[in-house]
Amino acid sequence: MTANGKPLVLIVEDETDLVTLLRYNLEKEGFRVTTAADGEEALLIASEQPPNLVLLDWMLPLMSGIEVCRQLRRGPRTREVPIIMLTARGEEADRVRGLNSGADDYVAKPFSPTELLARIRAVLRRATPSLSEEMLRYEDLSMDLAAHRVRRSGRDIHLGPTEFRLLRHFMQHPGRVFSREQLLDLVWGHDVYVEPRTVDVHIRRLRKALNEDEQTDLIRTVRSAGYALDHKGG
Ligand code: CA
Repeated sequence: MTANGKPLVLIVEDETDLVTLLRYNLEKEGFRVTTAADGEEALLIASEQPPNLVLLDWMLPLMSGIEVCRQLRRGPRTREVPIIMLTARGEEADRVRGLNSGADDYVAKPFSPTELLARIRAVLRRATPSLSEEMLRYEDLSMDLAAHRVRRSGRDIHLGPTEFRLLRHFMQHPGRVFSREQLLDLVWGHDVYVEPRTVDVHIRRLRKALNEDEQTDLIRTVRSAGYALDHKGG
């Protein structure tokens, strides 16, 4: 997400006419657009400035769209970026292969810009609730992203900046277990060196702030695996 609030879409396609058409339609609908004409350029651009979504053509010179998709899923900065594959091939087997490679959705050519935009919005809503919603909720917990405010059962909760980012990340992926290393990458940023133990310190602070009296512990510790936001506690 960028400062001006417009989601960034990376178009990976070697057909210039289609790129022009896609760019026009996306910009008209309030997206920012970057483009790459082959897979290597796409991987470079995506790792330097991870987009909010990748539109990835199947048939590309040098490296196939599938391979680009796999590599994006392996990149520490791009593994969570939603990917929509574009392809002229309509066979079911190809579709399955596309989804197995880690793509979030699949759109067959030719498609209408309206259809594609609807799919883009749906994938973005699923992948990054914060793009479409200013408010995150989990159980009796709410986070107002615009006002930077957290409440539990009506009680204001004051968090330090790191605890706030940790909780935001958990609330965007409720129930999912993240290792210390993943949390360091996702919450602290991949180029900051912090010891994994630091995560425990901030989790402890977050727990203390969230859980008062007899309230359920919303953070689950998964031994030797990591942490999750989970009302079943533990
Ligand atoms: Ca192509």
